[in-house]
Amino acid sequence: MSTMSTKSEMPEPRNLVAGRWVSGGEPSVAVVNPADGQVLTTIPDTAAEGVDEAVRAARAALPAWRSTTPFQRAAVLHRLATAVRGDLEPLARLITLEMGKPIGEARGETAKLADAFDYYAEEGVRVYGETIPNEQAGVTSIVRHEPVGVVGAITPWNYPLELIGWKLAAALAAGCTIVVKPSEYTPSSAVRLFGLLAGAGVPDGVANLVLGAGTAGRALASHPDLDKLAFTGSGATGAAITRSLAKAILTSMELGGSCPQIVTASADLDEAVAGCARRGFRNAGQICIAINRVYVQREVHAAFVDKLTAAVAALSVGPGLDDPDVGPVTNAEIRDRCAAHVEDAVARGAQVRAGGHSPSDLEGTWFSPTVVDDVPPDSLLGSQETFGPVVGVTPYDTAEEAIALANGTDAGLAAYLYARDLGEVFSIGHALEFGNVAVNNPDAGIMNAPYGGRKGSGHGSEHGREGLHAYLQVKHLRIRYG
Ligand code: ADP
Repeated sequence: MSTMSTKSEMPEPRNLVAGRWVSGGEPSVAVVNPADGQVLTTIPDTAAEGVDEAVRAARAALPAWRSTTPFQRAAVLHRLATAVRGDLEPLARLITLEMGKPIGEARGETAKLADAFDYYAEEGVRVYGETIPNEQAGVTSIVRHEPVGVVGAITPWNYPLELIGWKLAAALAAGCTIVVKPSEYTPSSAVRLFGLLAGAGVPDGVANLVLGAGTAGRALASHPDLDKLAFTGSGATGAAITRSLAKAILTSMELGGSCPQIVTASADLDEAVAGCARRGFRNAGQICIAINRVYVQREVHAAFVDKLTAAVAALSVGPGLDDPDVGPVTNAEIRDRCAAHVEDAVARGAQVRAGGHSPSDLEGTWFSPTVVDDVPPDSLLGSQETFGPVVGVTPYDTAEEAIALANGTDAGLAAYLYARDLGEVFSIGHALEFGNVAVNNPDAGIMNAPYGGRKGSGHGSEHGREGLHAYLQVKHLRIRYG
């Protein structure tokens, strides 16, 4: 397969509304390949009228879709999973072209999208209600789970398909209809995905796509006829969206955060290093659950940093289509933030052990995989989300200190702990104020367990049974029969 992009593989940037491909307006937002700086396509920023048409289509499709049985919806979702697997390579290439990740990771992401459709097909038929005893004879109480209704979903660019998929799969399984607005950096894999819906039997209007940036996003978030808004993205945009809601609807917000890793003196150091090299640098560190700040107990600090430096220096860097370990970062904002975080830490006494710069000989947007040691906790790198291939290490002495450092920012999505002492595993694991804590492994998020944040990292769960219930609402039906 070619490692060059061709114009012919870029789908026409159109909206899908009520099953028809329609124009979202004049093309105005350029989509750039971060590996070489070339413009791949230009999309419209759909205005309020176009977004309104999509929401109306979703509303019109709701009564019929929510009346289907979960088994009928499961059949559709399974067919969609099969369709995605059959289209894996073109979908993966579009992800890599537009956001830069290694093609192997893009294939993995696309495979996980298919898995999400299968998972929620199966979970959807297991939504059980409850019967509750009543004090009075001849009366029974039933609790039913019913679809929330029309959902708006606004998604970012770091996992262009997966983050749509979790919302789309759960919403469809629950019997909701949806309007999705993907990131303006990564619209084309979404366009291609939505092209698969009709063939899989998703009825017209059940899932609609609107392209655009802030204009389309604001129009969707503030639309008065949504029943729920699901958002993944930055904390600042999440806060803006919360303010712009037309009424007090249900929301799920996954806002990322700067994730800590604690490595105690009892840890298997090689595993801790391998975990950090994976979870800090996969997807070029552009993951909400990326390890950003590492707290290492002083006895093992020097050895950990030496090993981590060697592991990170060995990571291959190159265009995503060549399948390196680390591709470009997706845009200049990320590159500049990486540089600013490193510069600030160094100015406060930290040392760069690996990387630390943007290679000047490459077109596109790049930042070298970077390890910074002795990072002061109050520096930008020590306290904020970098969202790039940069990890900062800080030594600590006591478990209390490590817990205070890990909990000491507004981030509450994921934390990582490497320790073999069972007392440490439980006492530190319980004390971490995060929605996901991975102990002695770097994978805090799996499809069949709830995944979501606390504090500034948002609220609500995706994945697992909880991720389906995020699209359901309870009804108490109290029936007198005697
Ligand atoms: P990132 O993708 O860098 O995490 P953002 O939070 O800026 O960052 O973007 C996430 C999504 O929110 C994108 O689809 C973007 O177009 C959309 N968006 C940006 N600004 C707004 C806004 N004011 N209202 C609604 N959506 C927005």
